[in-house]
Amino acid sequence: MTPAEYFELVPKSVDMNIRSELYSTNEFTFAVAVILSAQATDKKVNEVTPALFAAAPTPAAMIALGEDGLKSHIKVLSFFNNKAKSIMGLAARLMDEDGATDAGYKFPDKYHNRDALMKLPGVGQKTANVIMNVLWGAPNIGVDTHVFRNAHRYGWVGANANTPEKVETALLSIIPARYHSIVNHVMVLHGRYVCKALRPACANCPVCGICNAPDKTVI
Ligand code: SF4
Repeated sequence: MTPAEYFELVPKSVDMNIRSELYSTNEFTFAVAVILSAQATDKKVNEVTPALFAAAPTPAAMIALGEDGLKSHIKVLSFFNNKAKSIMGLAARLMDEDGATDAGYKFPDKYHNRDALMKLPGVGQKTANVIMNVLWGAPNIGVDTHVFRNAHRYGWVGANANTPEKVETALLSIIPARYHSIVNHVMVLHGRYVCKALRPACANCPVCGICNAPDKTVI
């Protein structure tokens, strides 16, 4: 199954109207949600973020809430201490730069590129890619567990692609450019609900007829 065949068929089976299943209220809270989603499911993150973002919808409000207040909201998530530090660092930097009190917070234009985003506290390559892709439709591929697993499962990347960064580079070179902006969204939703890590639901999969994954469950 080539990437072109996959991206021709699978997007028709996923909801392309939503760009992320993470709950957010503006660009700042989306970045916070992405930071919180490291090693945690979107579902788990979404259990804590509505109350958190009601209390702290902007960088300034996050600073006012304080690190302990933030921790009290996110303590059910893995690595919450480190995540709290990252988020407070991010909020402080953004507040220093423009006050950041607008409930409809948008990142300043200078952050609309990956290198600039990655200079912000708590924002690594995957987080920057997801922000760029979801908020601004940029052709960056956030390689999460689903993208990483299934890129290998379909044989699109080799064993030497053993980091998210290497998988992203490999995928960008083999997936037609017209699909780059939807790769993360499509592979995450298809990987989460159909082409799952254990017992993929092949009978319900739109590419079942052309898939040659070794652990396909339908012959
Ligand atoms: S047929 Fe099965 S293994 Fe292949 S892409 Fe679909 S769910 Fe995944």
